[in-house]
Amino acid sequence: MTEKRRIGIMGGTFDPIHIGHLVTAEAVRIEYGLEKVLFIPAGNPPHKQDSNVTPAMHRYIMTVMATYSNPHFCVLPIELERLGPSYTIDTVKELICLYGGQTDLYFITGADAIHDLPTWEKIDELIGLCHFVGATRPGCIRKLDDVIKRFGSLGRKRIHRLATPELEISSTDIRERVRKGRSIKYIVPESVESYIQKEGLYI
Ligand code: ATP
Ligand code: MG
Repeated sequence: MTEKRRIGIMGGTFDPIHIGHLVTAEAVRIEYGLEKVLFIPAGNPPHKQDSNVTPAMHRYIMTVMATYSNPHFCVLPIELERLGPSYTIDTVKELICLYGGQTDLYFITGADAIHDLPTWEKIDELIGLCHFVGATRPGCIRKLDDVIKRFGSLGRKRIHRLATPELEISSTDIRERVRKGRSIKYIVPESVESYIQKEGLYI
């Protein structure tokens, strides 16, 4: 029997994309032998309805620039093209149609996102459709185990843990740094730093 293709999905608001996202995606790609990682910027994030999210075009362009130099990374604007809130369940179903049944999808998340997993739209159906990798600090593994237990045997089969050093970086912190005129050098790729400056984002 031939091995199934493995494709990673890195979903996020990417407002802006930072090296925490990139380092995590690359670590999971290598650990799980993923053919590629699809970065999918959220269109209208369901959990960020009230906040001011930067227009999708800027977030998409920054994600393309940040991932361009990695031949295994690519950006799919499918959530940007969809009207209304973007739910992972719809995205995963779309990818299953695109890649067919002979592909295993691995949805990559950081610690915060994986802990919220039980609250995701149609999560019981979703967990039957794709794998999840929670990239988290060794110290947070126990919290992740509680999430796995919540889903019983399917959880053990579908939710994986990858211990990573987890860089203390968030887009929230980057936006605040820009607003306060502090440096974001080396926290985001150089191209993203220049783009933020040129477009006057986050000020
Ligand atoms: P914000 O502060 O606006 O919430 P964020 O930095 O958390 O932004 P998102 O776009 O919300 O970035 O996150 C997308 C995915 O990346 C989520 O799965 C999140 O857990 C993960 N992630 C975010 N920051 C890191 C990091 N420093 N290391 C590893 N994964 C991360
Ligand atoms: Mg976040």
